[in-house]
Amino acid sequence: MTAPIALVVGSYNQDYAWRVERAPSAGETLRGDAFRTAAGGKGFNQAVACVRQGAPTAFVAAIGADAAGDGARRLAADEGIDARWQVRADTATGSACIVVEASGQNRIIVALGANERLEPAFLRACAALFDAAGVLLVQLENDIGATRAALDLAGSRGVLRVLNPAPVHDALDAALLGRCDVVTPNESEFALLLERTGGARVEADTLACRDDAELHRLARGLGVPTVVATLGARGCFVSHADARLRGDAQPYYRIAAERAGVVDTTGAGDAFSGALVAALLRARDRPLRDAVVHANRCAALSTERPGAAEAMPRLADVERRFGSTRSEDKA
Ligand code: ADP
Repeated sequence: MTAPIALVVGSYNQDYAWRVERAPSAGETLRGDAFRTAAGGKGFNQAVACVRQGAPTAFVAAIGADAAGDGARRLAADEGIDARWQVRADTATGSACIVVEASGQNRIIVALGANERLEPAFLRACAALFDAAGVLLVQLENDIGATRAALDLAGSRGVLRVLNPAPVHDALDAALLGRCDVVTPNESEFALLLERTGGARVEADTLACRDDAELHRLARGLGVPTVVATLGARGCFVSHADARLRGDAQPYYRIAAERAGVVDTTGAGDAFSGALVAALLRARDRPLRDAVVHANRCAALSTERPGAAEAMPRLADVERRFGSTRSEDKA
């Protein structure tokens, strides 16, 4: 029997970024200092993070019949990702316009384009990938019907379902969360999810300072068996519905962030979710904690390089910095 794969169903966006002294006012034209274009989209970033950690990774996404879509195919192939593209002639590949001021402030416009036209029928036509999957990872940059279909296809096969609830979608509700085994919100997504599920109203920036028992109580309100909340420079927090869940000794715990020479935190959450899934696939019989420690390390390393997909560390980078990943097994 062949080893199970990681399956990412998500978005591809082409990022177009300009550096300028200051953002233009209405009606004004300014010269930029530098321009760069790069692959982005939470789905693609997470697929790259996952495959670079050594997991056989498949990616399902929608692109337009355009140059950016052609670029997406090449990049996925270069990374060794088994990508299945729904090509939409009726819309463009997703794109993001990013204006970065000298002060570091940025302004971003995202047009999700083809990502919003990914169809449940296309996912059903990829049934063989769901048959082969050990873990499914989804985000919220696609048509919500497609995301729901991916979760259902995985659920009916007993595949572990991980949702990175980013960015929080209007249609995200308790029913969608009820289809997930693990969610990985950052602080603002955690606060929004609490609101959506009719729970507490909390200020996102107060979450990381709350004590662990309080965070656990809040996380339990989401109705998902395991919550892995990322807390930026404060690391992450894990909350299980059941003390024995996923091999962990404790129902809730916190892991401090690794020390990092931070250059750019864009995509840190994507590095975390992609690496978490790769580690879950590699050591399915190990406590969840091992996979979370690995994800926390990868996310820290991703902040030491500029960009998102291109900044994802490789397994060798993690081993060079932190020692053999097998040493986690002894921790
Ligand atoms: P997002 O990028 O989705 O907003 P976070 O800001 O919570 O997500 O960051 C995700 C993860 O990246 C954190 O849980 C942590 O592992 C890592 N991380 C983020 N910022 C830092 C930092 N300054 N130093 C070390 N690790 C960091």
